[in-house]
Amino acid sequence: MIITLRNLVSSDERNQLETLLDRVTGSHRPTISTMIDEREVIVLDDSQLDKQALAAISQQSAVERVVQVQTQYKLVSKTFKAERSSILVGDTQRSQPVTIGGSDAAPVVIAGPCAVESREQLLSTAVAVKAAGAQVLRGGAFKPRTSPYQFQGLGIEGLHFLKEARELTGLPVITEVMEPEMVDIVAEFADILQIGSRNMQNFPLLFAAGRNSFHRPVMLKRGLSATIEEWLLAAEYIVAAGNSNVVLCERGIRSFDTQTRNLLDLTCVPLLHELTHLPVIVDPSHGTGRRELVPTMSRAGIAAGADGLILEVHPDPNSALCDGRQSITPEQLQSIVHETRIMNQVMEGITNRSWVA
Ligand code: PEP
Ligand code: MN
Repeated sequence: MIITLRNLVSSDERNQLETLLDRVTGSHRPTISTMIDEREVIVLDDSQLDKQALAAISQQSAVERVVQVQTQYKLVSKTFKAERSSILVGDTQRSQPVTIGGSDAAPVVIAGPCAVESREQLLSTAVAVKAAGAQVLRGGAFKPRTSPYQFQGLGIEGLHFLKEARELTGLPVITEVMEPEMVDIVAEFADILQIGSRNMQNFPLLFAAGRNSFHRPVMLKRGLSATIEEWLLAAEYIVAAGNSNVVLCERGIRSFDTQTRNLLDLTCVPLLHELTHLPVIVDPSHGTGRRELVPTMSRAGIAAGADGLILEVHPDPNSALCDGRQSITPEQLQSIVHETRIMNQVMEGITNRSWVA
């Protein structure tokens, strides 16, 4: 149940509501109080509440609206908010902002190296991806690697290079944060925080990202073997912590087949648009692990209704310190950006049924 409070609630009215909630929910059942679109909301699991209790809550004078949501995830659900959310990335003081999601924004292309390897590598890639038409620069400064002997990223130094790349190109930047304690440091440099697959259910990290002092949006990648419900509940943690600006990123899930790195689950794109108002983007690089498959799966992602793509690009993919096998060149990116625009026009034509004679 999501309870939206009226704008000006007296302390008496609030106390009355809180006393009632304590009585009907019991002290061990958590309720979350947070701000959504500048309105205070209280969220609770109402599965154990009887009709009388539900009616009593709706009648409280502090309450403006009560929405009952059957699913475990609530604030991210379409039942709570029917229209698609659009998320602004970047601010005009330091970059050219872009909108991800909503009902009429064109798909956004995020591109850059898997890892920030050096100042030269990042700046040259940033200039090249901008020229190819990308709107957001990606690059990992902190890399979650499977082996401790693999390149772990440049850390804070990498964040400084990302800042420089933004100043040079005007592109907002996205980079991964791996630990709750690092959220505010990364958020100072980044325009959008990335939470990686391996951390999708790192709840303290989700909470910290939701509370980041710079109010940066968060891109939440799907866990390696996460169900859609687990993924939406992870997004719910960020929103419940006070940050509604969450973008979901499908990056492939584990499968039995070793031909590709992962199984890019494009079914989740239209399904998520049914279940949640959050934007959904697709990562064909990690989703396939093979650069020759990236253009086709980029087109397929847009055809499935994705609000954008995130692509790994390297000036010399074979020498990349991380994920070179799935990285494309800036020239290949340029074709994908072009094809994305065409695919989007086709999709608009289909949605508007302009093909009907
Ligand atoms: C990445 O984007 O480079 C990355 C580490 O992705 P994922 O968390 O999806 O594996
Ligand atoms: Mn990568």
